[in-house]
Amino acid sequence: MKPSDVGHRLSKIVGCQVSWDSHVRDCYSVDASSYLIKPQVVTFPRNESDVIKIIKFARRYRIPVTPRGGGTGLVGSALGKGIILDMRLLGKIKLGANHVKVESGVSKGRLDKILKKQGRFIGTDPSIGPFCTIGGMIGTNAGGIHSLKYGSMIDNLVQVRMVNSAGVVIEFPGKNKFNATITKMHSKNDMHFPKVSKNSCGYRIDVISSKKDLYKLIAGSEGTLGIITSAKIRTYELPKNVLLCIIHYKTLSEAVIDVPDIIKSRPSAVEIVDSNIIKHIKISVPKSGCLLFVEFDTNIQSNRKQIHKITSGRIIKTESDTEKIKKLWNFRNSALAYSLRSITKNETMPTLIEDAVVPVRRLPLLLKLLDMISKKYGLRMIIYGHVGNGNLHIRPILKQKDLRLIKNIAHEFFSGVIGIGGSITGEHGDGLAR
Ligand SMILES: Cc1cc2nc3c(=O)[nH]c(=O)nc-3n(C[C@H](O)[C@H](O)[C@H](O)COP(=O)(O)OP(=O)(O)OC[C@H]3O[C@@H](n4cnc5c(N)ncnc54)[C@H](O)[C@@H]3O)c2cc1C
Repeated sequence: MKPSDVGHRLSKIVGCQVSWDSHVRDCYSVDASSYLIKPQVVTFPRNESDVIKIIKFARRYRIPVTPRGGGTGLVGSALGKGIILDMRLLGKIKLGANHVKVESGVSKGRLDKILKKQGRFIGTDPSIGPFCTIGGMIGTNAGGIHSLKYGSMIDNLVQVRMVNSAGVVIEFPGKNKFNATITKMHSKNDMHFPKVSKNSCGYRIDVISSKKDLYKLIAGSEGTLGIITSAKIRTYELPKNVLLCIIHYKTLSEAVIDVPDIIKSRPSAVEIVDSNIIKHIKISVPKSGCLLFVEFDTNIQSNRKQIHKITSGRIIKTESDTEKIKKLWNFRNSALAYSLRSITKNETMPTLIEDAVVPVRRLPLLLKLLDMISKKYGLRMIIYGHVGNGNLHIRPILKQKDLRLIKNIAHEFFSGVIGIGGSITGEHGDGLAR
């Protein structure tokens, strides 16, 4: 069917806006990844009932559907050739004492503002900041700087409501057929999962210990199990005091060796940026080596005293003013933008291998693997990320766009990561990239 035929037929069935205009479809043919897929139509459901009608229509005509939130995903998982559901009009928020019920189109930025008035926050905070939506964050099982202490979406999800591929509303936890199917899969004991602190690869069957937590499977399912319409998410009390320490190391290897000891003191974040990123940071720091950003939001006084004892690096800044800390975090949050600025006109940065996670004690092995691959293929690498979780965003820079070469590098890298007990994606998901 032509886009206009799909659009005309669909708009007769649903009350919401449906667009098959070529410019609109162009806008939705990209997200924050490097892929381009033009959809047939774009829909803007206003509520669950619109979602059900769209799904039933798509099922009848066998058209693929792809839900989309803020389109900030890095792996192309919000792109599709059929019907796109832009979920951002589903925007209701209901506050509870220790949780919040949100419709899936609510942006993180809007939710943060509302929760702040209540003195609370949600623990997951992707570096993109306010632009991503709750549906997208559940879809990718997003993490962020504070996942070290507060977990990824999977750890904070209490309930989910979604529309499945038959157009039926399912609530989790609850009794339904879906549960039975997954229980069967789960009972097979020949599955092996990496023992990492966060993981967005495949379906997270590993976190399911009983029927009650089957709903966790929705986190990281990237829209493949259903369209999330709302969710109940845990919230936390905003910390009263925060301390941020910036520590300089001469090499990445020296820094990662200290990380297991640093995380024993229960920091709220431990992040790393390499010299490629440091170059862009507008505070007085050594421009070579790497920096650890270590944040504490409890036991501030004792951690301020102890931090010297648990690091072999040089503490170059300690900050406890909340506004100044926010500005310092902006440098870390801009790491992807700085990486893009670091590449020259003739270089290319494939987005395939950028999100590996390994057990923290095995970080030295991950660095060795990267060193070996860099030497073998003559690559430059940019490295930053959530080192406290063992999750590094690794950006290899190639001199030319050679797809075969990229595939070879990815294959070697993925095998190496799995070999050292890791996962190929800690928080961004699989998407088209993986
Ligand atoms: C500069 C930058 C920094 C980033 N930093 C981080 C970071 O620190 N941590 C991190 O985890 N991620 C990070 N990301 C990736 C991205 O922001 C997250 O993956 C985010 O959770 C995506 O949310 P979104 O609303 O934009 O989702 P989209 O990109 O729109 O969609 C993501 C996936 O979720 C699915 N989806 C969306 N809505 C629904 C729904 N209602 N029901 C079912 N499935 C749905 C989509 O189909 C897709 O598979 C970063 C991205 C950028 C560009």
